[in-house]
Amino acid sequence: MLTRTVAEPLEEFVRTDGPRPTTPRLSARGSYRIAPYVAPRRLLRRLAALIEGRGWLRRLFVSAERGSKWALYGCRMCGQCALPATGYACPMTCPKQLRNGPCGGVGAGGECEVYPDRPCVWVTAARRAQATGHTADLDRLQRPIDHRLWDSSSWLGYWQGRDADLWTAPAPQRPQLVLLPVLSSPGQAHD
Ligand code: SF4
Repeated sequence: MLTRTVAEPLEEFVRTDGPRPTTPRLSARGSYRIAPYVAPRRLLRRLAALIEGRGWLRRLFVSAERGSKWALYGCRMCGQCALPATGYACPMTCPKQLRNGPCGGVGAGGECEVYPDRPCVWVTAARRAQATGHTADLDRLQRPIDHRLWDSSSWLGYWQGRDADLWTAPAPQRPQLVLLPVLSSPGQAHD
């Protein structure tokens, strides 16, 4: 397994090491608090158009987004961010890149099948969603992503309204997610 060194360029590390389940550094509660401040509005839509219209500015912005979201969430720049519907745990850090819940290989203790030393990212998502009252979000269905958008800015797409149909509306008629005891193991803070 590769580990990142300070000298190693971020992009190279992300590409060569592949996805690994990542526990976000920013709490779910903090993430949900920040969300309203970066929600699409006219000013941000204009700013996004301005940035997209200038190549050097767009590249700078993408670099800043890549670095900050990688540090906070382990972002891999899929370009169509699922974080608001996954307890702010990135599903693209799943080694199988599953965006609609875990595979059948999750260990009895909630560990990833591929990296047993790490919790499954969907267990992390469920813990964070449960701690902040957002479990209904996990009932939404994530649509397939457009793979041509890798390495593009999801923030610019979000502000421009291009991310509007990334996931379905909540399905109140369906049973709510039932969290197993393993998801709320004592001593682990996820909010
Ligand atoms: S943009 Fe994609 S890879 Fe990055 S945090 Fe969002 S879902 Fe994960």
